[in-house]
Amino acid sequence: MQTISTIGAGIGGIATAIRLARKGYRVKVFEQQSYPGGKLNELRLNGFRFDAGPSLFTLPNLVDELIGSKSSSAFTYHKLELITRYFFPDGTVLNAWAEPERFADEVADKLNDRHSDVQRYLLESKELYELTANTFVYSPFPQLKNFFTLQSLKLALNPKKLKAFETMHQVNCKFFSDPRTIQLFDRYATYNGSNPYLAPGTLTMIPHLEHNIGAYFPNGGMYAITDELVRVARQLGVEFIFNAHVDRVEISNGRTIGVSVNGSGVESSYVINNTDIFTAYQSLLEGVPLAKRLAQQQPSSSALIFYFGVKGTHPQLDVHNILFATDYHSEFRAMEDGGISNDPTVYIFITSKRVASDAPDGFENWFVMINVPPNTGQNWDELRQMAREAIIAKVKRMVGIDLNKLIVTEDYLDPVRIEQRTGSFRGSLYGISSNNRMAAFNRHPNRSKNIKGLYFVGGSVHPGGGIPLCLASAKIVDSYFKPI
Ligand SMILES: Cc1cc2nc3c(=O)[nH]c(=O)nc-3n(C[C@H](O)[C@H](O)[C@H](O)COP(=O)(O)OP(=O)(O)OC[C@H]3O[C@@H](n4cnc5c(N)ncnc54)[C@H](O)[C@@H]3O)c2cc1C
Repeated sequence: MQTISTIGAGIGGIATAIRLARKGYRVKVFEQQSYPGGKLNELRLNGFRFDAGPSLFTLPNLVDELIGSKSSSAFTYHKLELITRYFFPDGTVLNAWAEPERFADEVADKLNDRHSDVQRYLLESKELYELTANTFVYSPFPQLKNFFTLQSLKLALNPKKLKAFETMHQVNCKFFSDPRTIQLFDRYATYNGSNPYLAPGTLTMIPHLEHNIGAYFPNGGMYAITDELVRVARQLGVEFIFNAHVDRVEISNGRTIGVSVNGSGVESSYVINNTDIFTAYQSLLEGVPLAKRLAQQQPSSSALIFYFGVKGTHPQLDVHNILFATDYHSEFRAMEDGGISNDPTVYIFITSKRVASDAPDGFENWFVMINVPPNTGQNWDELRQMAREAIIAKVKRMVGIDLNKLIVTEDYLDPVRIEQRTGSFRGSLYGISSNNRMAAFNRHPNRSKNIKGLYFVGGSVHPGGGIPLCLASAKIVDSYFKPI
C-alpha cells in the first residue's frame, strides 16, 4: 500500500488527507500540538467557548465536497442574512445585508453613493472572480498548459480587466465618491492580510464571495469545520498522531523516503507538508534551498485578538461587527512601520449570538481583533496593553458599551503566540503578503520541483491563505495523485 506522511493537521493537511485516503492511500497526519486544526482552533475559558482563529466562512461547497455524503454528517451551516454591521466614526451605522439589492439600498440610504454604483461594483467583482479564479486559484500555477484555457485567453485579450496596474483603493475610488463606501470596500484587502493602498485592484474580486455568493456560519461555530473534517478523515482510515513534532523530511537520491518524528524515522512513499513554507525550509528541509524569489517575499499581516467573556447581551452588535478607524490609511502606514495605530479598526465577532452554549446565560463571548504587523521582535506586551486600552475606549465611544465594567474573563492571541502554536512565520495569518501585483506568481507551488514525492499544502503556498484557498491547495495536491 502506498503511504503518505502529512506534516501538520491544519485545514489544508486534513483536507488533503481526506482526498488521498479516498483515493486509496494510507495516510498518517503528524501534528505537533495535542489538537487538530492549526489556526482553525477553539478556546474554552471559564464557561465560554471562542473560535480562536478564522471567523468568516465563505465557499462552504469546498467543505461539502470533502464531507461527501451529507446523510451521515451532523455538520450544518446557514447563510447569514446580515453579513456585517459597520460603525463609522461619524456615528453612521450600516448593515451589510446579504441580499445585494437590500445592501445597495442601505448604502444609498446611509452613504453618499448610488444603488447603481453598488450594483455595478458587485457585478465587476463577480466578473473579475470568474475571469481569474480558475487560472489563479484552482489550477497549479504557473503552468504552461493553464495559459491555453478560455479564461487565460480572455485575460490576455483584456489585461486591463485584471485591474492589476491600480491599487484596490484606486479602483474603489473610481466606483465610489463617499470615503465611507471606499473604506468599506478597501477593508476586503485585509481578508488575505494585505494593505488596500498597495495591493492590486485584482483583489476587488473578494467582495463577490461575500456579497454575491454569501457569508456562512457553521451551526456549531467555526471549529465545527475542524471537528467534522477530522471525523470524516478518521472514517476513511486516516491516522492522526498528536504531540508528534516532525523534525525532518527524509530524502534519499532526490526523493522523499519518509519523515523523522520526535527523533524516530517513519517511512512513507510521499510527504505532504502543511507547515508554513518558510519554517519548513528552515527546519524540515535542511540542504534544500528556498527559491530566492520566495525568500524575498514579505509575510502577510498578523492579528492581535482579545477573547473577552462579557457580562450582558448587547443588541447593538450582531455576529460580525466592524468599528472603523477615522484615518484608515494611517492605520496601514503604522503597520508598514511595524507598529499599531492608536485608533485601529476593531472587529468584534460574537458567536454566542447564534450558539447559545458558547456563553453562560446573560453573557456574550467577544472575539475582538485588530490587524497588526508580523512579528519582527516588537515589544508585544507593551503593544498589547496599548491596544487593549485603545479598543476599550473605542468600544465605549462608538457603541456605548463600557467593557471595563463588563469583562469577566479574558485571554489573548498575538503574533508571537500564533508563531509558537502553529509555526506560522512571524505569526502571519495568510502566508506571503499580496501587496504587489506579482504576489500570485511568487507563491510556492504545491509540488516540489527539486524533491520527488514532496508536496505542499496550506495558507503559505499557492494559491494563498484563508480557508477556501487552503482547501483549493488540497484539491491541487490531490490532482497529482492517481487512485490506487
Ligand atoms: C486570527 C485569525 C483569523 C483568521 N480569519 C480568517 C477568516 O475569517 N476566514 C478565513 O478563511 N481564514 C482566516 N484566517 C486564516 C486561516 O485560518 C488560515 O489560512 C488557515 O487556517 C491555515 O491553514 P493551514 O492548512 O495553512 O494550516 P495551519 O492552520 O497553519 O496549521 C499548520 C499545522 O501544522 C502544525 N505544525 C507546524 N510545524 C509542525 C511540525 N514540525 N510537526 C508537526 N506539526 C507541525 C501546526 O501545529 C499546525 O497545526 C485567520 C487566521 C487567524 C490566525
